[in-house]
Amino acid sequence: MARPKVKSKAKPKAKPRAAKSPKVEKVIPLHMIPDVQSEVIKTAEGRYLQSNEAMFTFYKRSKGEQSPYFLGLMEKKQIIGARCPKCKLVRVPAFEIYCPDCQFEKLELVELPDTGVMNSTPPITYFANSLFAHMVPFGRGRVMIDGADTGIPMHVYTTKGVLTPRVFKKNTPVKVIFRKNRLGKPTDVFAVPIAELPEKLRAKKGVEEQELDWSRPVEPPVDKPTPETEKAFKSAFAAFQSMSKAVAKSDRAKKDLAGWKRSIQVKTAGGSFIISIDKQNLTVKPGKAKADFVMVSNNPRLFEDWMNSRESLTNAIIADKLWISKNQEFTTVFKLDRLPRSLRRT
Ligand SMILES: [Zn+2]
Repeated sequence: MARPKVKSKAKPKAKPRAAKSPKVEKVIPLHMIPDVQSEVIKTAEGRYLQSNEAMFTFYKRSKGEQSPYFLGLMEKKQIIGARCPKCKLVRVPAFEIYCPDCQFEKLELVELPDTGVMNSTPPITYFANSLFAHMVPFGRGRVMIDGADTGIPMHVYTTKGVLTPRVFKKNTPVKVIFRKNRLGKPTDVFAVPIAELPEKLRAKKGVEEQELDWSRPVEPPVDKPTPETEKAFKSAFAAFQSMSKAVAKSDRAKKDLAGWKRSIQVKTAGGSFIISIDKQNLTVKPGKAKADFVMVSNNPRLFEDWMNSRESLTNAIIADKLWISKNQEFTTVFKLDRLPRSLRRT
């Protein structure tokens, strides 16, 4: 006997909300899905065949009692906290319905400002897992929103070039910035030092990432050339030219640059040059020109140390020996850092 169909009353009316970008993001990023292929594994016992197979499970996760907080971020660009009418404690995110300290008094939802201070010096992530790799480098801090008694864990960024340990300290005043495409997730918001914002944005509510000026970092000056730095520059430039030829012949190195197009203005005390990455090749030419981003190092020898695998560009940035004008270009720096190793293995 056929059973009557039961309609669920909790059927969601709205279509699932996807990122508004024309290219819809997948739950599993495409680059993490292996190709259909087999490989032969050789061991002391013999040859074995191994193939890529799939086993997958997806699930939907309810934000439960945290929904007002995440809905506030996604729909209204508001930071919602929960205030206890008895003890007046304000918790944010609003993660509880009843106050555990006041005989389970019902909490009231309140909108909080989008400004606050760091409650400690945030550690910085330069190497993240694949979920966050496109966001590096970011600081992982807790922001004490003005008027709240608890902190919100949040990524922190600077709009003024690369994030180094000098940008944020305990009690640095910050502004919470909203992503353009919000999904009701903790990463819908991040914080920047309020001192970096122009006056008109400091008091504005619900500032979005594209309103920030990421383009005008303060470039560190380089010293006047000396015979010694000019000589080091010539040597580094020649090494770059040899490297360019080696990359053209190395499949491994070309793979590191696949699908990437960038021009980088490099400035050193001994001179300047431009690196171009295009069509899986790396070329260099002396001088200055308009580029996607700028790299500054007083010491031209740094680049030779890098090509000889004595130093990575990533480490040089962390150690303040190399400066880059755009935080997001760390992705390009990672690609460059693979080259010396790939060339050694070719
Ligand atoms: Zn209370």
